[in-house]
Amino acid sequence: MEELIILGTGNANVTKCYNTCFAIKSGEEYFLVDAGGGNGILRQLELAEIPMEKIHHIFLSHEHTDHLLGMIWMIRMIAQRIKQGKYEGKLHLYMHSDLIEPLMTIVRLTVQGKFVKLIGDMILLHPLEDGDQAQILDYCPTFFDIRSEKAKQYGFTMRLLNGKKFTFAGDEPCREWEYPYAEGADWFLHEAFCLYRDREIYKPHEKFHTTVKEACETAEKLHVKNLILYHTEDRNYENRKELYTAEGRPYFSGNLYVPYDLERFEL
Ligand SMILES: [Zn+2]
Repeated sequence: MEELIILGTGNANVTKCYNTCFAIKSGEEYFLVDAGGGNGILRQLELAEIPMEKIHHIFLSHEHTDHLLGMIWMIRMIAQRIKQGKYEGKLHLYMHSDLIEPLMTIVRLTVQGKFVKLIGDMILLHPLEDGDQAQILDYCPTFFDIRSEKAKQYGFTMRLLNGKKFTFAGDEPCREWEYPYAEGADWFLHEAFCLYRDREIYKPHEKFHTTVKEACETAEKLHVKNLILYHTEDRNYENRKELYTAEGRPYFSGNLYVPYDLERFEL
């Protein structure tokens, strides 16, 4: 069974949930996408019952704190397990080529040398260019540059084993050049910073983010079947699902999901 496990659903500023990241389960293995902003990734993995020994592939979308710093923890914790003989095989990290040096700089400054030495041997960094494909578990995702104006960022699209199209658009609104990657997606993961009606409070557009209504309109135009919205503010976290779903529903005819952290989807 292929399963999507949403580990975090918040934007960078949240305190009531974790930063946006997720894992795809295929068989006994997991493909992790981003890792949130820190040590909280360990808690989310524990709560989701994802053993670190079953993660051999991680994709990092971009350099921002709420996506990258959890990666430092993943590297540290898996390196420790490798040293202890508790992790079989190699860890593969995928990211756009300009991201490798910033990541390595932080790793070198914060992770013990004996762990850093595993990089290039047991921990492999795979630089990606726009349009590159990689073999990850049973998948062959195509990575694409979302052409962010804030920091270079990649998304990806892939066929699931069941033939369905799965597209991750990063943490910015899907724009025209990404449409071919998202058109007709069975599963489309898209950010929604806040409700459209709260746009004057959170000012999503000046931060290159979007709202529930607009994300739904884009997904409708692209004939998406299942839309997952995340990377949100968390002021009214308890009622977020209800409020966001209510706003988005009139603009999107497919299945709209606004998951809480740790929700799971059979893909
Ligand atoms: Zn973000």
